[in-house]
Amino acid sequence: MRAVVVGGGLAGITAAIALAETGHDVTLLEARPRLGGATCSFNRDGLVVDTGQHVFLGCCDAYRGLLDRLGMTAHAPVQDRFDVTVLAPGGKTARLRRTALPGPAHMLPALARYPFLTLAERARVSRPALAMRFLDPAAPATDTQRFGDWLAAHGQDERSRRALWDLFSVSALNIAGDDASLALAATVVKTGLLGKNNAADIGVAGLPLGELHGDAGANLLAKLGAQVTMGAKVTSIKPGDGFQLTLNSGDQLGADAVVLAVPHDKAAPLMPPGALAPGTVDRWAGLGASPIVNVHVIYDRPVMDLPFAAAIDSPVQWIFDRTQISGLDRPGHQYLAISLSAADAYADVPAAQLREQFVPALAELLPAARDAQVAEFFVTRERRATFRQAPGTAALRPPARTQLPGLVLAGAWTDTGWPDTMEGAVRSGLAAAVELRRSMASSATTIGERQ
Ligand SMILES: Cc1cc2nc3c(=O)[nH]c(=O)nc-3n(C[C@H](O)[C@H](O)[C@H](O)COP(=O)(O)OP(=O)(O)OC[C@H]3O[C@@H](n4cnc5c(N)ncnc54)[C@H](O)[C@@H]3O)c2cc1C
Repeated sequence: MRAVVVGGGLAGITAAIALAETGHDVTLLEARPRLGGATCSFNRDGLVVDTGQHVFLGCCDAYRGLLDRLGMTAHAPVQDRFDVTVLAPGGKTARLRRTALPGPAHMLPALARYPFLTLAERARVSRPALAMRFLDPAAPATDTQRFGDWLAAHGQDERSRRALWDLFSVSALNIAGDDASLALAATVVKTGLLGKNNAADIGVAGLPLGELHGDAGANLLAKLGAQVTMGAKVTSIKPGDGFQLTLNSGDQLGADAVVLAVPHDKAAPLMPPGALAPGTVDRWAGLGASPIVNVHVIYDRPVMDLPFAAAIDSPVQWIFDRTQISGLDRPGHQYLAISLSAADAYADVPAAQLREQFVPALAELLPAARDAQVAEFFVTRERRATFRQAPGTAALRPPARTQLPGLVLAGAWTDTGWPDTMEGAVRSGLAAAVELRRSMASSATTIGERQ
């Protein structure tokens, strides 16, 4: 089978590897000059910058499987135990560290001591945790509810939602905590926080994402005999004797099968008529987009002695020490990146204004930053980082399968049941490869029967 994978993000890389490994003739077409999609890096005067800091969890089995296949597991270490320091202005800190107890009891001691909630608020945290166990994330009714409303109905006041639940839901779902789909929030909470005791242990890449995924993906695909073409933007996909793909260069390419692994707004205009039920593709626009902004600050001295930390009561959400990963070549300096999810309020704010807001905000959280000089400040913005993971989106996410045998969909936005994450992307790529093999096998059987 000549299979063309359109889109070289994690979904496309995964699908291409899975198909090449099972002996198919694979071509991967990527519009940009590199693989990796939303997980990419660029060079800024010698500094290697990820456009957006990424983390993953111990429970991200599919993504970790991909890392393994890429030979990158050692470069993406996972904490021995879930361990997050939470900073607040004025120097107050908390440490949320799990115990070795089995889940979900593993988090209880840390929550019982969490100083940013009152005793009564801490006591009430177990209510939604218990209720969540009986919630079915796959039930359509679950996706009609806002996470914030559900938490409030289970005793979580405004303070508990902002100082505790937001820490995880805003970064995992890239939407203001109250506004998230309960179904997606439940997937994260049930799998990550209430599952096995190591499910929420945090993994952070020790290499720039461009190397971890893009370069490693290109190397593995070359070894597997797949052809990878960068700068190849597909402008149309037409069925008829397999599929004819047209590229921006005007070149045409024939294929027996196509995996369309691009974001939903890019997939919609490429879908051949009749590939899905009428109206389906138009409804994808309802998935929308949600931005992530990263604020990068290089100080003339070390100001944070943690690999990463979360913050509350501050515009800062999560801070990461990027000094080593970026190859920063300024002795004694430290490079921090602030990751801002659900960043609608910041996406169009000029860098100078963000500097006025975030440099003092960091100084409030990190006492050592008060006397430090900012050697460099810049901002990266991903305006369509993920789809907007609000209630009602589950029904809009399509499965891999289409009505055209040989055409399948992949991408973190498709119906994986997972949020728009690296894990979701890899799961979608695997699902697409399985569905493609199934649909090609069943259409071969049908043709055989007709003959
Ligand atoms: C700043 C940021 C931070 C994030 N943080 C996290 C995190 O901490 N943890 C986590 O798990 N997830 C995180 N995510 C989400 C995660 O990166 C995505 O869910 C995942 O990478 C999406 O992969 P994908 O393959 O589905 O899509 P993409 O990565 O978007 O890949 C699609 C590819 O298709 C290509 N393409 C588009 N149109 C065409 C065309 N016509 N022809 C050819 N190629 C085309 C694009 O160039 C792109 O390379 C973050 C995302 C961003 C942007």
